[in-house]
Amino acid sequence: MAVELSQKSFTPYTPKKGEEYMSARQRAHFRKLLEDLKGELSVEIDRTVHTMQDEATIFADPNDRASQESDMALELRNRDRERKLIKKIDETIGRIDANEYGYCESCGIEIGLKRLEARPTATLCIDCKTLDELREKQVAK
Ligand SMILES: [Zn+2]
Repeated sequence: MAVELSQKSFTPYTPKKGEEYMSARQRAHFRKLLEDLKGELSVEIDRTVHTMQDEATIFADPNDRASQESDMALELRNRDRERKLIKKIDETIGRIDANEYGYCESCGIEIGLKRLEARPTATLCIDCKTLDELREKQVAK
């Protein structure tokens, strides 16, 4: 499950010369990225709830009813997805607070600022992620 940042809120981080990885300034930067992302998702969820309330009309035509039901199912799936993402963002903020953020959960190396900016909730370095995906593909076969 990927969390992608919308481009508008994105200001790339430029570390100072010799700045250590995951300095207080960097942690603050990623914390803000994650909080902005969470804010955007919360707006989405509110919007979805309103759409569902607006559409809670009973159609006489069974075809209309069927398409309304599948719309609702889709909305519910989106909402579920958004909720999970928010949970993941909260967990990630917890990792920042615990000073665990930015290191690969599998091998312990630095995930890297670029990768984290593209995917702020990433918990694996690119190598471990690639291996992980390869393994998933093999299981799916
Ligand atoms: Zn790794």
